[in-house]
Amino acid sequence: MNNFEVLLQDIEKELTSIVGEKYVTRNEVIRYTYTRTPTWPIKRERIRIPALIVRPGSTEEVVEIVRLANRYKIPVIPRGGGASIAGWLVTNNVDKSILIDLTRMNKVLEIDKEHFTVTAECGILLGELHKILRENGLHIFTVDVPFYIDTLGGALSGVVGGGEPSDLATSGELYHYVLGLKVVLPTGMIIQTGAGPHTNIYQQKVVDRAYNSPDITSLFLGDGGIFGIKVEATLVVEPWPSQYRFGAFIFNSFESSWKCFNKLVSTAPYLYSHILLMHTFEMKDWGLLYAIRAHLPEELALKYSYLSNICKFYGGSEISTEEALKLGYRYGTRDIGRTFGSRGHFIYFEGAFPRNIVPVAYDKIKSFLESEFLNGKLNEKVIDWVEFMAPKLRTSVILGFLVFFDNDKLNEDDIDKLIDIQEKYSDLRFKLGGFIEMHHGFEAFHAASVWSKEYKEFISLLKRALDPNNILNPGLWGINYD
Ligand SMILES: Cc1cc2nc3c(=O)[nH]c(=O)nc-3n(C[C@H](O)[C@H](O)[C@H](O)COP(=O)(O)OP(=O)(O)OC[C@H]3O[C@@H](n4cnc5c(N)ncnc54)[C@H](O)[C@@H]3O)c2cc1C
Repeated sequence: MNNFEVLLQDIEKELTSIVGEKYVTRNEVIRYTYTRTPTWPIKRERIRIPALIVRPGSTEEVVEIVRLANRYKIPVIPRGGGASIAGWLVTNNVDKSILIDLTRMNKVLEIDKEHFTVTAECGILLGELHKILRENGLHIFTVDVPFYIDTLGGALSGVVGGGEPSDLATSGELYHYVLGLKVVLPTGMIIQTGAGPHTNIYQQKVVDRAYNSPDITSLFLGDGGIFGIKVEATLVVEPWPSQYRFGAFIFNSFESSWKCFNKLVSTAPYLYSHILLMHTFEMKDWGLLYAIRAHLPEELALKYSYLSNICKFYGGSEISTEEALKLGYRYGTRDIGRTFGSRGHFIYFEGAFPRNIVPVAYDKIKSFLESEFLNGKLNEKVIDWVEFMAPKLRTSVILGFLVFFDNDKLNEDDIDKLIDIQEKYSDLRFKLGGFIEMHHGFEAFHAASVWSKEYKEFISLLKRALDPNNILNPGLWGINYD
């Protein structure tokens, strides 16, 4: 038995006394499952298996685990649903780390119907939170997908710091709705952000994001979990909008659909909760999918009438709801976690771009992907190809290519080729002035590769101050110190 094995036995004993035997394991098969994510093109040699899995059930237990990690100077990796698009565990010394699975901390702690807030533990699945709120007549802007895997804490730490909801076009990300967070810092100290008990000792509830203090909540949003472990979040919710209409218009050129898209994005108030431009492999035309949520039938009718007039003005013709649903299904991956894999393996080539550069970025990325797929001879293995553009409020657009592959035809060589294409794509996206949405996995390194020197120094400074022993997700974004 080597020294680390001996140490691990002591750590396991201590963890067992914190959370109970049932919630600690070193079983190899179980540990291996924690290396998996819906991102499948992973080089085998890059897979890293954590040394130990622990599943705390309370904030106090998280604190004790973090304190223990500081004592032993052993890294910890918080984990929600493990749904990163960008992949596997990439922190330093994964094989000598404790992975903290937070999914036992999944309770809704308070729904305040009078003030429209919810407080929940961060291990709750977003689909579950959404369901409970809906049963209470309330709406929350959770991520669009993967609704049945993502946890609240994972979404707030990961992609764009708070998930892109299906209503992204009008609501922005989930992080806009966060009032405050309860975070266990890397040293084990607990901090409650937002205007509430920690910024006014006479107030027991979180009532706002920023009264009485700088907006510290933002520090922990999209932080990839390097600054602290989120254990509770308080968010704004809305009354459930009972009226809904979904449909699609077809345009005979990209140019006309793009003009229509821009007109809709520039119109106030918003006539929709969601719009998406979409093009599939066999389509000559472009489709504009829309969803309208409203609180009153009259509001829905008025919004629809303006929206359809604008679409018709730019040459769009509306298709039936059944056809629109079929088109939407080609894009939709919402059921991942329930039906994952049913349409073959797929890869997202996705990025956020300022709206004005989208047509140029689209042309360049499309010709890059087409030539890479042809050269790599992967074309015959592609079974579906969907291109999409979704506005985020009025400023930027998520531009994506969703490529589906035939499961039976892919081999190890293809996976290497696909990883290579993904990495080249990532560079191209930055050079076009775009951004990635992933704050962890391999994309974290790509993200940090284009940070200015000053910016990287600033983030390192914050990290060192909060995590002197560098135990929490060490090495993410290439931030290293002893
Ligand atoms: C096919 C697919 C489609 C997707 N589409 C969308 C989409 O439409 N919209 C969208 O917003 N996102 C989308 N995502 C991305 C997904 O929402 C993010 O990857 C999200 O961060 C995953 O949450 P999780 O709970 O699985 O987090 P994990 O993957 O478990 O963790 C993410 C990061 O956060 C850290 N972390 C996890 N929990 C905590 C915590 N409680 N405290 C501190 N750090 C923590 C982890 O260490 C890790 O660095 C998609 C992902 C896939 C696979």
